[in-house]
Amino acid sequence: MSKPVTSIKLVLLGEAAVGKSSIVLRFVSDDFSENKEPTIGAAFLTQRVNINDHTVKFEIWDTAGQERFASLAPMYYRNAQAALVVYDVTKPQSFIKARHWVKELHEQASKNIIIALVGNKVDIVDENEEERKVAREEAEKLAEEEGLLFFETSAKTGANINEVFMGIGEKIPLKG
Ligand code: GDP
Repeated sequence: MSKPVTSIKLVLLGEAAVGKSSIVLRFVSDDFSENKEPTIGAAFLTQRVNINDHTVKFEIWDTAGQERFASLAPMYYRNAQAALVVYDVTKPQSFIKARHWVKELHEQASKNIIIALVGNKVDIVDENEEERKVAREEAEKLAEEEGLLFFETSAKTGANINEVFMGIGEKIPLKG
């Protein structure tokens, strides 16, 4: 018997160059590229994963991080059941931006939206701890206060990427 399929609309938000497209590429194709072209507007991709006895189909909207596209973001998060708010653990400004996205989502998105706070490029910190500019504790505190899932990831090595999506999938009410 085929497994029931639950579709999840998921949006990625975060400053330009934090690695949103790379996270999606790693999740969907298990691949990584050092010199990715920036996303213009938004890109759409899907990926299916099995969670317990269900198939979860992620419908992923990867938005552009550039400020000039910021006004388009509500179009993508308004109907989303899940959001990844991504920052770069080596870029403090990107964490400030992530705080803003979390606030905006809580004000404007669906009340039930599941949000994961994702600190990406942790491979750089693993090589040299001095590169870390956002403390893990600070991000954990934000996640706890705001009811977010929290992961530190590397799209480059693949560390924790599947865990982000599985974590979201496990929180979504499944059909059937
Ligand atoms: P986006 O604008 O947020 O979608 O970011 P991109 O996915 O285009 O990535 C921006 C740059 O960061 C690219 O040069 C990527 O190769 C690089 N990058 C993305 N993720 C990682 C990561 O986990 N570690 C490292 N070291 N570089 C990364």
